[in-house]
Amino acid sequence: MKIFCIGRNYVAHAKELGNEVPTEPVVFMKPKSALLQSENPFFYPIFTNELHYECELVLRISKNGKNINANQALSFVDAITVGLDFTARDIQDELKKKGLPWEKAKAFDNSAVVGNFIPLTKDLKVQNIEFSLMKNNEKVQHGFSNNMIFNFADIISNISNYFTINIGDLIFTGTPAGVGECSVEDKLEGFLGNEKMFSVNIK
Ligand code: MG
Repeated sequence: MKIFCIGRNYVAHAKELGNEVPTEPVVFMKPKSALLQSENPFFYPIFTNELHYECELVLRISKNGKNINANQALSFVDAITVGLDFTARDIQDELKKKGLPWEKAKAFDNSAVVGNFIPLTKDLKVQNIEFSLMKNNEKVQHGFSNNMIFNFADIISNISNYFTINIGDLIFTGTPAGVGECSVEDKLEGFLGNEKMFSVNIK
């Protein structure tokens, strides 16, 4: 399985990190070893001093496909949840300055937290999906799918022009504003609407 991630997909988040608003989806990938299932412990990585949370809506692919039209794209998704795109921001800033790839900052072990999936129903597909992240019981991020620059269909269509998508692949669809640091002993909980989808304790 593959894990696709979209960067800079919310205007306010692109600006908070001093990035330009993109004109086509910014895509990067994480390997399978990056996956952390909900309820498992997360250990603060030794190579960073600035670990950031990025809470995101995550889609699960249910059909194989390539060169998918945007108007067909949602039929390739069967489930949705929220997750975390853990980022070593200090490492990423260094790599960006040098124009180097991001993998050491973004694709390390357990950097992709994925909550419990729920079916992406017809109703949900047309809703402005609300999601949020609580850090130590305080709301630190709050997003709505309608604020994405590229919607679910645009993202799937764009990715599929470059990569075959396969059953079980995941797509992190980008984080809203409010990213920030986390430290040992923090508790991070992701919500889809009012429903808790994951809980991660940083060790
Ligand atoms: Mg992200």
